[in-house]
Amino acid sequence: MSYCTPNGQNVGLATMNLSRLIISSLVTILVAGACAGTGNRAPTGSAAGDAATDGLDVRGIDRSVAPGDDFNAFANGTWIRTTEIPADRSAWSVFGMLDELTARRTADLIAETGRTEAPLGSDARKVGDYYASFMDEAGIEAKGLAPLKPTLDRIAAISDATELARALGGTLRADVDVLNKTTLYTDNLFGLWVAQNLNDPQRYSPFLLQGGLGMPDRDYYLDPSQRMADIREKYKAHISAMLKLSGVTDSDARAARVFELERRIAQVHSSRVDTSDVLKSNNHWSRQDFHDRAPGIPWQAFFAAAGLDKQYHFVVWQPGAVTGISALVRNQPLSTWKDYLTFHAVEHVGNFLPKAFVDERFNFQGKVLTGTPALSERWKRAVEATDAALGEVVGKLYVARYFPPADKARVEELVRNEIAAFRVRIDGLPWMLPQTKEKAKAKLAVLQVGVGYPDKWRDYSALEVVRGDALGNAQRAALFKYHWNLQKLGQPVDRSEWVMNPQLVNAVNLPAMNALNFPAAILQPPNFDPARPAAMNYGAVGAVIGHEISHSFDDQGALFDAAGRLDNWWTEEDLAHFKASSAQLIRQYDSYRPFPDLAVNGKLTVSENIADVAGRAAAYDAYRLSLGGKEAPVVQGFTGDQQFFLSFAQTFRQKIREPALRQRIVIDGHAPAQYRADTVRNLDAWYDAFGVKAGQALYLAPQERVRVW
Ligand SMILES: [Zn+2]
Repeated sequence: MSYCTPNGQNVGLATMNLSRLIISSLVTILVAGACAGTGNRAPTGSAAGDAATDGLDVRGIDRSVAPGDDFNAFANGTWIRTTEIPADRSAWSVFGMLDELTARRTADLIAETGRTEAPLGSDARKVGDYYASFMDEAGIEAKGLAPLKPTLDRIAAISDATELARALGGTLRADVDVLNKTTLYTDNLFGLWVAQNLNDPQRYSPFLLQGGLGMPDRDYYLDPSQRMADIREKYKAHISAMLKLSGVTDSDARAARVFELERRIAQVHSSRVDTSDVLKSNNHWSRQDFHDRAPGIPWQAFFAAAGLDKQYHFVVWQPGAVTGISALVRNQPLSTWKDYLTFHAVEHVGNFLPKAFVDERFNFQGKVLTGTPALSERWKRAVEATDAALGEVVGKLYVARYFPPADKARVEELVRNEIAAFRVRIDGLPWMLPQTKEKAKAKLAVLQVGVGYPDKWRDYSALEVVRGDALGNAQRAALFKYHWNLQKLGQPVDRSEWVMNPQLVNAVNLPAMNALNFPAAILQPPNFDPARPAAMNYGAVGAVIGHEISHSFDDQGALFDAAGRLDNWWTEEDLAHFKASSAQLIRQYDSYRPFPDLAVNGKLTVSENIADVAGRAAAYDAYRLSLGGKEAPVVQGFTGDQQFFLSFAQTFRQKIREPALRQRIVIDGHAPAQYRADTVRNLDAWYDAFGVKAGQALYLAPQERVRVW
């Protein structure tokens, strides 16, 4: 359960986490980016201009708006009015700026690494060679489609159902993550997640997830609105164009059949809301169950090709989709499946192919789906690809330069204070029964907190990187990651493992592991700055920390005990109260309408919204505790409490293009940023800090304020 869906643009790297690609992705860089996103300043070393040096971005505030009417507009209105979204991004925000800054630094580090003659096979050499291979546009152009030819030839040679199953099994990769990063999308027919068994947290299990769509979600295929119908027409044209570029004849007719197959796959897909329901999804299947409950795919051949022939037990997260897709494998024409595989093979690696493929892919994935006008510069995509392939090698370089031990110690102290504040909150809950409180505190006591970077780094020695082979490198990197995950099966569970790279601007709760990761890159100004007043740090990074801690105790966290076992540890009464608060919050978010025809999905976003409310409350308490009974000094004309809330709202400032926002409302478990900023309306202290009165738009009567924790 991550903190945010970072901004960026849709560059489409097959080997990177595909939800990053579709949600629109992270580490891309723009030349300037420091302050206000005007795009005409050189990087300053800080990510938010005023905020980094002076504390709050006072110039970004719009004093013509009353805080009680629209807190986001008050805190960020002038910034929003004067900011332009960079042409190669679907959105712009503090997180976007930090992405830019971090990627710029990463690119410099990679360049430095590449300048030295590192020995062949060393990590430094791999990073330099991977990056350089991606940058070699002329070399990629000269090779044309040749690097993909073996794959396309194998698809062309498929002559029966068993060979088809082998080809499909061969595409399986470790590219999804249900509970941690909530990466639910893969364009391969299925995705694999290796994680601890939810019934027996001492061992790992393979989790199989639905996939196979070229567009972000089933809604894109099934929603009857004209807007979605238009996107479907453009998608068909895109499939045809990619096939044509690949030398396939009769591409329009084939594209129509590929689309129709995907539409049928979409029909059997589970919805996002169902997929986030752990109790519906923790389905344990034996190998025999696949034959009995999902006939169609010759499973023996499928699993053998996937390297899973020794696995006899799986968790099938969306059984209906596996059954439905398997039936389609049997009853749809083999020729259509071959066209489907051809299109997906090319689309999947489109970013490692010549310019015509990159541009066509961006036309659809970037322009149509997110409204982003321009493809980002090549070096930005190269950083992103290198991060995806060699994330912890790059991360190690990054933290050595940019995350000093003093910062790590300071953030660890903030985390300790927030855990202490959370413990006090648990004791003070009027509705929770004493035995449940004891269990909550026991769970809090063993929470595993990672700050900055993992204690031990991943070993990449089995990954071969060949200079001049961009596509092969990407394929080998994806396979390396897959095998790295497969080898965990049968090993004891490692709770210290990280699921995010240190150079990622995000944070995550691993609910089944009862662990948190706070990557170094989110721990920089304005989120965290040792030089800023404590109130601002608690309002910004403190809210991040509180958010992630509270995920251990939200609607999903309540399902996992201290050891990570799927075992509801709440009493019926506790759960009833919790559900009532959740329902209240669902209604609150359902009422938000960024467009007249589209509301926020309160149900889809409820876990994140609970974490926002609870995290803010815990951060506020920790901040008050840190004052030791005194009042914080007035800074920049704002009281300590005002600094806390403004700092929080300013980290959520965002401008986003309409298609991108619409996409996120369909697929993102997080509410749009403006409503996350406005969630302060559930906290009593905010009313006092800004003199908010009944009748103002955000005002909630005390009994309407949602108090979960
Ligand atoms: Zn979250």
